Amino acid sequence: MIRQMREVIVAGNWKMHTTPADAGALAHTIAARTRVAGVTRVICPPFTSLASVGAALADGDPEVGVGAQNVHHELQGAYTGEVSAPMLTGLATWVIVGHSERRRDAGETDALIGQKLRRVIEAGLRPILCVGEQLAEREAGRQETVVRSQLRGALGDQAPAALEAARLVIAYEPVWAIGTGRTASGADAAEMAGVIRSALVDAGWSGRAADAVPVLYGGSVTSAVFAEFLAEPAIDGALVGGASLKVEEMAGIVARAALTATARLAAGPIARPVEAGT
Ligand code: PEP
Repeated sequence: MIRQMREVIVAGNWKMHTTPADAGALAHTIAARTRVAGVTRVICPPFTSLASVGAALADGDPEVGVGAQNVHHELQGAYTGEVSAPMLTGLATWVIVGHSERRRDAGETDALIGQKLRRVIEAGLRPILCVGEQLAEREAGRQETVVRSQLRGALGDQAPAALEAARLVIAYEPVWAIGTGRTASGADAAEMAGVIRSALVDAGWSGRAADAVPVLYGGSVTSAVFAEFLAEPAIDGALVGGASLKVEEMAGIVARAALTATARLAAGPIARPVEAGT
């Protein structure tokens, strides 16, 4: 048997909200209201607020990670308005890649997302890779096919060892649940987490390594609905959009995450059968 325990993560995606001054103050307050043991907390403000959030957290609670919401796929060059991974040095330690709003608004393809992922890893940053199906795809029962294809396209021939060393996190975010107030069920999210880990094995990961990847749920998470997702052992936290701008919501979400972190610690590592290639 092999034994491992996955970390519990709550990451807030502030999207295109906050000025630098607002962001610093909000990050400071959220950090103070979410100081719990065992939960990895990350705040992803707009690029323009990375510095003020970083400064506020360095002063308030340096354990809260700072993440960017996107990054360019090249290192430098004539790309007006873009930000590359090396430019994030000293500003962020996490990066969201492949968010559905970028797939929708910037036409990001799986191949491009894969290049971004490579840049993130080369820069020593920690990626949160987002995948998830559209409503019509779920209604047609195609969610598994879509998510497997997104992962195949983004991971490409990237060495599992490099992604594993970068401590890849994957967020399952059904597009129809993002910003809509509608959520997947906990059971559906857990099923998709299983699909994600099985797709990693298909991409050449060992069973042990795939099993160690944290899978977050994202899509209209609030403090009121989060428990349903964390009741699923396959789900390791949330990527939170709208609610991450609200102090009381974040306090509730992180407090719920802390219950899971404590329970996992008390239960000890999960014992799983060793699979081929582990
Ligand atoms: C997101 O931005 O990744 C997200 C899940 O947004 P919301 O929580 O607002 O649905």
